[in-house]
Amino acid sequence: MYKDTKIYQVLFSILGSETVTTWGCVRHCGACCHLDPIQRPELADYLSEPELELYLTMVGEGGWCVNFNHGTRECGIYEQRPDFCRVKPDSFQRMYGVDPSDFDEFAIDCCHQQIKAVYGVDSREIRRYHQEVENSPH
Ligand code: SF4
Ligand code: SF4
Repeated sequence: MYKDTKIYQVLFSILGSETVTTWGCVRHCGACCHLDPIQRPELADYLSEPELELYLTMVGEGGWCVNFNHGTRECGIYEQRPDFCRVKPDSFQRMYGVDPSDFDEFAIDCCHQQIKAVYGVDSREIRRYHQEVENSPH
């Protein structure tokens, strides 16, 4: 999960959200495993130097993570994945300065943006994600 933080922070401050939903990951998505650094110009703003080095070693063909299984759309090192891959409040606070109380809204918006960028605005993946959010606890 990665964000263009400055753009996001502006959007987030404008849009905020009046609805409270719970973030969730949909299975067989993997949009956030598309790591192409060209599409993430602010990596150095929120990753430490060692993390950035690791990140760049993970970029494979077509900008996808070398650990991403395209057949199953699952992470091949899930239990050992880096902290910057983990969608959780403390990681997001460290990387993006997001208050834990804003975590769900921020993470949901991250997924929306990433899924749209990778799979398209009319994709099955974005529809599945909308369903996930709609069905989440309010
Ligand atoms: S973009 Fe969101 S929903 Fe898709 S795999 Fe990543 S965390 Fe899960
Ligand atoms: S390490 Fe796993 S979770 Fe992280 S980008 Fe690669 S495939 Fe995705």
